Amino acid sequence: MSLSVVTGAARGIGLEIARRLAADGHALLLVDIAPAVEAAAAELGAASVCVDVTEPQGIEAIAAMVETRGEGVRSIVNNAGITRDARLTKMAESDFRAVLRVNLGAAYALVDRLRGELIDGSSITSMSSRAYLGTFGQINYVASKAGLVGLTRALARELAPRTRVNAVAPGFTDTAMTRAAPEAVWDSVVPSIPMKRAGEPAEIAEVVAFLTSPAASYVTGQVVFPCGGRSIA
Ligand code: NAD
Repeated sequence: MSLSVVTGAARGIGLEIARRLAADGHALLLVDIAPAVEAAAAELGAASVCVDVTEPQGIEAIAAMVETRGEGVRSIVNNAGITRDARLTKMAESDFRAVLRVNLGAAYALVDRLRGELIDGSSITSMSSRAYLGTFGQINYVASKAGLVGLTRALARELAPRTRVNAVAPGFTDTAMTRAAPEAVWDSVVPSIPMKRAGEPAEIAEVVAFLTSPAASYVTGQVVFPCGGRSIA
């Protein structure tokens, strides 16, 4: 069976995506820089590779696993991501570049390396963020997530009809990434969400599962917002 590759699958949204795709019968290759990816793969009977997706050797290690299996790629889920928040006046250039490199550069590199392996009817789904609309104090993150939307739209045209390409733009979701924010952030953000709560990783995974499934066979070049309505608030 061809593989579905999920990056950033050791925890949070990526781990829930892996669980959800496993339930849909995907053969999975889980990727993360954190060694916990091995436990995640063991839980799901999946293969894993513990690498940094910004390093060429990391991308090569993923490709080697795909090539060894020899059955192509059914789905790529570009989910690995980081934040290094600061306003322009306080942002180090290295933090601007680091966020672009992980969130956007690695998605391009992985797709470029695996493009010859994508099977007919395959899909690419990239984890953007509702923040791409222009959240204050996150110019690096916003630029990277807006970049993923552009990559998605342009790539959808280049890879159709063989491969569908979509993006997911979650709102504030309860993971280690948002738990790292001060309580004051939670207190100010949650009331601004029409659904009046943070999202759960499983609610984001559900959207990814739909976009990777045959149910979304006519959906390409789109951005879906599981954000509790915050994009329209
Ligand atoms: P998280 O920090 O819990 O998980 C991110 C995972 O990516 C981690 O396991 C981490 O080790 C991995 N990773 C980071 N850099 C990597 C690298 N260079 N190589 C390989 N793996 C790497 O975050 P999360 O909240 O689960 O977020 C997952 C994705 O969803 C991210 O792209 C994030 O930007 C996006 N997102 C999150 C939220 C939210 O509110 N949590 C909202 C919108 C979008």
